Amino acid sequence: MLQQTQVNTVLPYYSRWMERFPDVGSVAAASEEELLRHWEGLGYYARVRNIHTMAKILVEEFGGELPNDHRKVSDFPGIGPYTAGAIMSLAFGKDFPTVDGNVERLFSRLFNIKTPIKEKDAQVQVWKLARDLLPHGKARHFNQAMMDLGATVCLPRNPHCIECPLSNLCESCRLGVADQRPVRGAKKVVSPLEVAVGILLSDGKMIIQKRSPSGLMPHLWEFPGGKIQRGESPEKALVREFFEELELKICVLDKIATIRHNYTAFRVDLYAYYCRLEDDNQEPVLHGAVDFRWVTREELDQYAFPAANRKLIRLL
Ligand code: SF4
Repeated sequence: MLQQTQVNTVLPYYSRWMERFPDVGSVAAASEEELLRHWEGLGYYARVRNIHTMAKILVEEFGGELPNDHRKVSDFPGIGPYTAGAIMSLAFGKDFPTVDGNVERLFSRLFNIKTPIKEKDAQVQVWKLARDLLPHGKARHFNQAMMDLGATVCLPRNPHCIECPLSNLCESCRLGVADQRPVRGAKKVVSPLEVAVGILLSDGKMIIQKRSPSGLMPHLWEFPGGKIQRGESPEKALVREFFEELELKICVLDKIATIRHNYTAFRVDLYAYYCRLEDDNQEPVLHGAVDFRWVTREELDQYAFPAANRKLIRLL
């Protein structure tokens, strides 16, 4: 849960998750739908699917226990070098390094690494340092100490060099360039996206559809709609999208709201409208989505939606 996500954001999710899924067996036995609901809003949904797959492998092949073996742990879906190193050193006390964002920042300052920190050369250098500096038999304490020092003293902005136990050894502090490390690469361009979505009402229910397993936010549910094309109004986009996606002819009614949401790689403006069927004798034919439901407002809470759709649901 903590990958790319701050501790404060994770805490309520973690508590709810552990209450419902206290062990590997309960994760393995749960449906993907239920796991997605508990994850909804955390983003990076591949993580929850990997956890599900891994829990099932652990139950079926390892008696529900993590194997004490770096190679086997590294082979599980979603386990990269950081998580594998953390499991081996923190859970099993074995001499494996691990490097999270805090350790990257700490080492880039201690050793004044000038290469942009996400570039391969810098990563090789940081991991080599983490391996070479590891005191034999003390990986559990050393790795946690490095991560905590980065998280609490060698802060991203305004590192507390005066109270740092490593200040005498710190090259970037000596040179007065600590605030310029780590060197960042070129900034990611956040592209804006304009999307129209429709709450299509019929007999007191509204239609939702399930996204395909490939592409962005796979298997989440959503209200039909899509990208507004250049020169198109949101209303026209909705009429077009409902026909393209579901072969439904609709009339666009009142506007509900414009909702802005920032995802990591893009920012979306969601133009939301109530809609009705042009005539009632139409059945949806799916193009792209893998399933659909007619649901009441109350039933929406049983499904996992992308964050921008969830903001819209709160307004309904
Ligand atoms: Fe970070 Fe300052 Fe300590 Fe260097 S001396 S590791 S910059 S807190």
